[in-house]
Amino acid sequence: MPVLDSDIQFLHGVGPRRAEPLQKVGVTTFGDLLRYYPRRYLDRSTVTPIGKLREGLGAITVVGTVTAKGVVPGRKGRARLELRVMDESGRSMKAVWFRGAQWIGKAFAKGDRVALHGKAEKYGSSFSMAHPDFDILDEDHAALDTGRIIPLYPGGQELEKVGINSRTLRRLIHGLIKEHGLEIPEILPESIRTQFGLMDGNVALRAVHFPKSTDELAKARQRLKFEEFFFLQLLLALTKGRQERMPGAVFSGIGEHTRRFVDEVLPFELTGAQKRALETIAADTSSGRQMNRMIQGDVGSGKTVVGVAAMLMAIDAGFQAAFMAPTEILTEQHYANIRGYLEPLGLETRLLIGGQRKLLREEILADIAEGRAHVVVGTHAIIEDKVVFENLGIAIVDEQHRFGVMQRARMFKKGERPHVLLMSATPIPRSLAMTVYGDLDVTLIDELPAGRKPIETKLYSEKQREEMYEFVKLQLREGRQAYVVYPLVEESEKLDLKDAETGYERLREQFGPYTVDLVHGRMLAYEKEEAMDRFKSGETDILVATTVIEVGVDVPNATVMVIEHAERFGLAQLHQLRGRVGRGSEQSYCFLMADYKKSAEAKERLKVVESTTDGFRISEEDLKMRGAGDFFGTRQSGLPDLKIADIVRDQEILIAAREAAFALAEHDPELRAPENAGTRTHFARTAPKSLGFARVG
Ligand code: ADP
Ligand code: MG
Repeated sequence: MPVLDSDIQFLHGVGPRRAEPLQKVGVTTFGDLLRYYPRRYLDRSTVTPIGKLREGLGAITVVGTVTAKGVVPGRKGRARLELRVMDESGRSMKAVWFRGAQWIGKAFAKGDRVALHGKAEKYGSSFSMAHPDFDILDEDHAALDTGRIIPLYPGGQELEKVGINSRTLRRLIHGLIKEHGLEIPEILPESIRTQFGLMDGNVALRAVHFPKSTDELAKARQRLKFEEFFFLQLLLALTKGRQERMPGAVFSGIGEHTRRFVDEVLPFELTGAQKRALETIAADTSSGRQMNRMIQGDVGSGKTVVGVAAMLMAIDAGFQAAFMAPTEILTEQHYANIRGYLEPLGLETRLLIGGQRKLLREEILADIAEGRAHVVVGTHAIIEDKVVFENLGIAIVDEQHRFGVMQRARMFKKGERPHVLLMSATPIPRSLAMTVYGDLDVTLIDELPAGRKPIETKLYSEKQREEMYEFVKLQLREGRQAYVVYPLVEESEKLDLKDAETGYERLREQFGPYTVDLVHGRMLAYEKEEAMDRFKSGETDILVATTVIEVGVDVPNATVMVIEHAERFGLAQLHQLRGRVGRGSEQSYCFLMADYKKSAEAKERLKVVESTTDGFRISEEDLKMRGAGDFFGTRQSGLPDLKIADIVRDQEILIAAREAAFALAEHDPELRAPENAGTRTHFARTAPKSLGFARVG
């Protein structure tokens, strides 16, 4: 057995007690420990003196001595841990933990040298960091002065309990490399290393833990990121053959109903992009293989009608169709819309959401099972096992990013494996989509319907509130309508509701004769529906809402969107919200009401939304600022678990690694060539564990 496969408990200095928490963080073998990469590095150049702290610096590192430590009791028994840390500049700051006060408190003693990493915010006259990332330095501090770069490792309570911290890890890894350094086999073929100018694996693994210079560290990280992406892409490349699409229902392209829908029912001409999307879908669905396609189109680009036409292709071929949306409000709205489209064609639409009365529900389920329903519009209630279709031909998933991988997968397997069309307004960079969704095909709708005027966006502070109100009044006088949206901060809407309710009362006072209504997530389905109906019919002038209206809602006469506490929203979310206006031919406006004085970073972010209406750019900015894991939520998206590479920030490396992996898979699909032996061994050892993510269905 190669030494790298040895059980971690047999490494000098580990043993069974320490092996357990190490296994929990993914370190089972010697080899895993080598790939337990530092999360950060510390050197003189990356430390900020406390005296130089300012607001809006973002995440920074401070190094100092613990001068005081105490547990401060709080409300409801929620004690918090406070440390005071002073550095050589003679200035001090505070670090505060509200969670984990117990075990973190034990990790520190007065007089310890520590490194704290996080955002420093000013409270009163001094700075404070909440929940910083921390390391105890002690003698390492001396090393810092000699200009060394010190690796800091991911830690946590479990590791801390058995005495494993960054220092312990450095010792363990140092020992391991010293003893076995020359036995680490190279896993990238030489030709690829040469072509892309990559460091040798051995050198990179040593340098990522013990870099001799920042330059060497950068090269090591580059090589290891490449390697990580390379094996991921190799997996996609080598399993592609096995992923041959399943046979799918055969449609006959644009039939009678589809044609009448486009020519007679729709009050407008399709855009070029919509037509192209439909041609692609017609080709996919008549190919004999199951379609697995995503339509990406910015907010307001008209994805719904493309989905409806695709469903009509199914109906033309004698199949049923399903349309799934993430929220009840959106689902209800789609239902009303789609029923309006299908009625003139003599077709039946049914609605399926939670909370429907039992009798009604049974009737609907029977209509679906016996084929009386041509189209079913629903929330995820559609994918429940009880819902059995007579012959489902196509499933449309609207706002697909709001569903989890598993939910999409279940849609894929419903009945006789229907064609699947995913729709999203969150444009994912192409390289990313390929990595995340494997063999999913992507179509862009890159054109807005004619006559749309770009929404004017204004970033306002509290001082400009009156001015904003005056503006809204002018619009209402013209007969237009407005949304006022409040953020959802907590899981429960309780807290936010208070905000929205206060805002609602204030608007009622301010806007005298105009009607103001309130809609939020804690209302019953029918209450929400009624509130939306009143707004849609024009009975309500101003709709105050929590984020329940975020996606999809379509009321073309609404021309003003006011977003309160805009700094609390993600950029893509702001773009979605803004997309609720600008849906008709009138000029529309969006006010981002923000308290950004607290953070320069927030202002920066909001400026992006103010300056562009290009959803693609906004998404990319959002991704860059937040990183991929956070943007998608790893579990949500089925993103592979990457240790060192970041799918968004390291896109260039990803593209290069993809090119290399696909070329290799083409030339030597079984990795039989002697120069690929190391690649083959590593692939065989690591691939099966991660096979699951490659495909949605
Ligand atoms: P999204 O892509 O954000 O889901 P929708 O499908 O809700 O967009 O469409 C936005 C609005 O544009 C709707 O009111 C829809 O009726 C309208 N629309 C769609 N296609 C066209 C078109 N080709 N010409 C004019 N209006 C259109
Ligand atoms: Mg939509």
